[in-house]
Amino acid sequence: MFKRKTLVTALLLVVGATALSAQPAAHPSAKRTLVRAGHLLDVKTGKLLDNETIVVVGENIQSIAPSASVAQQPGDAVIDLKGMTVLPGLIDVHTHLTGDPDFDPYRELTTTDAKEAITGVANARTTLLAGITSVRNVGAGGYSDVDLRDAINAGQVPGPRMQVSGPPLGITGGHCDENLLPLKYHVVGEGVADGIAAVQQKVRQNIKYGADLIKICATGGVLSKGDDPQASQYTLEEMRAIVADAHRLGRKVAAHSHGSQGILWASEAGVDSIEHGSYINDEAIAEMKKNGTYLVPTLYLEDWQIEKGSLPPFYHQKMVDVSAVAKTNIKRAMQAGVKIAMGTDAAVYPHGLNAHELDVYVNQLGMTPLAALQTATINAVDLMGWTAKTGALEPGKWADIIAVEKSPLEDVRILQDVKFVMKGGVVYRNESK
Ligand SMILES: [Zn+2]
Repeated sequence: MFKRKTLVTALLLVVGATALSAQPAAHPSAKRTLVRAGHLLDVKTGKLLDNETIVVVGENIQSIAPSASVAQQPGDAVIDLKGMTVLPGLIDVHTHLTGDPDFDPYRELTTTDAKEAITGVANARTTLLAGITSVRNVGAGGYSDVDLRDAINAGQVPGPRMQVSGPPLGITGGHCDENLLPLKYHVVGEGVADGIAAVQQKVRQNIKYGADLIKICATGGVLSKGDDPQASQYTLEEMRAIVADAHRLGRKVAAHSHGSQGILWASEAGVDSIEHGSYINDEAIAEMKKNGTYLVPTLYLEDWQIEKGSLPPFYHQKMVDVSAVAKTNIKRAMQAGVKIAMGTDAAVYPHGLNAHELDVYVNQLGMTPLAALQTATINAVDLMGWTAKTGALEPGKWADIIAVEKSPLEDVRILQDVKFVMKGGVVYRNESK
């Protein structure tokens, strides 16, 4: 397939990857790539195995065995990661690849869908090179996330695998509406829908135009004008209708929720994940445990924003208020055993810093490094419905593989310096020594 080969060649040039050996041949299914791992980390058990070889064929892992038992055959490509710790690519279940951390209101109002898509191309590459091989993109304008996902899947641009939501659903005047201009300009957020019939229509519309999941705003938010993060926005009945339609049509639901009442209602309505969860209380914790709802904390953004951000005053004060309580509340939820998947809200801070989120879980909230790693691998794929496909290094799964210079179980911050990235059997970064 000439076309595919050309694309992959162009892609390797674009990302400057050095391992040309990983370039798929004309018949990639017939060719083996041996990834020689000095240490292989099993993210399910925390076991580190020395000198293992991952055999990659096409975009999948064919087998994993002790290196001594896997001889190089004629035609095999070999990638030497003998000095490295090798683990599955990380997964971020809350990103906005089509956005950047610039909250100047005029820029926000003048961003076109085309600009979002172009921004997404740059950020997708940055995210993949940081070792994030899959993401959920939870909110984008004009279905620019659908086109970005499709361009990545077609090999036109490098980026992580994406599950995308399209425009997030929200109430009039809520976090997912556009509230910066007066009435005379008639600006309404793309995902705004009030009442049962309207939310059903909007769920169906998002699916029609390519959404893999449904994102809703259950409560107010920080980066929106004039609303209160603690106030519930959708009613329990509206959220029940959203979940019923989404689940019947095979889509999961992610609910932006800061306030405790909104978290409680969203979980009760059957959403699959609560995003942010800043004001989670004991009642909401109990409800989420009962329903098996995932919590997706997005905490590093607060550290970054407080230290380096320059938000307009009507966003800034809310950021300060939420940051004052979120970590304490999230820590209680973690300790109570609520299921956690790593999400970052990258776009609120620069893309590519995603792994800083795990540093917060471990070094600020007391999670073990293994548990933190699981939030970005096996838990993330459980939430996404991709357990059979990725999230662990196992035969039959996608060859989504990263490597770092020491075990993240010793120091989770090493994940901020990923040296090797393979996605679907193609090498995008290789600075291994
Ligand atoms: Zn977000």
